[in-house]
Amino acid sequence: MNCVSLEELEKQIPTCTSCPLHETATQKVIRKGSENPKILFIGEAPGKNEDETGVPFCGRAGKVLDQIIDYMRLDEQEWAVINTIKCRPPNNRNPNKKELQACRSFLENQIELLDPKVIILLGNTAETAFVGKGTLGWGECREIDGSKVLKLYHPAALIYTRSRIPEQHQFIDANRKLWE
Ligand code: SF4
Repeated sequence: MNCVSLEELEKQIPTCTSCPLHETATQKVIRKGSENPKILFIGEAPGKNEDETGVPFCGRAGKVLDQIIDYMRLDEQEWAVINTIKCRPPNNRNPNKKELQACRSFLENQIELLDPKVIILLGNTAETAFVGKGTLGWGECREIDGSKVLKLYHPAALIYTRSRIPEQHQFIDANRKLWE
C-alpha cells in the first residue's frame, strides 16, 4: 500500500476486510488528535466504547490518557493517538499475531504520514506490534529506525494499578526533553 496522503489512507481503512475482525466490529477506529503531531501514542485495540463511537480512547482509559497528556504539558495540536489494529477483537481480548500482521501496513503508513517526533508505545501489545515483544523496558526510550520510541504503561493499567502512576510520572519526567 502506497498512500500519498493521510486523508487517502484514512479513507481506505474503513473498507478493509483483511482479517476476520471486520465481521464482528461495528466500525473501524482510526485516529484521534492532530494530523501533524509531535507525539504519537499507540494503544492496543479498540474496546467497547471505541467500537461504538469510532473514536480511540474515548472511555475510562481515554480520561487517564488525557491526564497523561496534561502531565506531559502537551497542547491539543501536539499529539495524536492510534491503535495497533483498527477493529475491536470480540470480548476485548488481545489481538493475535495474525490480526496484528494483517493490520500492520495501516499502522506503518499512519506512522509514516503522521511523522511524529516521538512515538509512545502504550503497553506491551503496542510494543509487540511495532518493535517486537521485550524490546524496551518500561520508561525506556530508544532510537528505532530513525524514530525516538518510548514505552509507557497503558492508561488502562493505571486504572487497575494506581500505584504505577508515580512511576509513570517519573518515566515522563526523565524523557521530557524529547518533546519540550
Ligand atoms: S483489524 Fe485491521 S486488518 Fe483486520 S479488518 Fe480491521 S482494519 Fe482490516
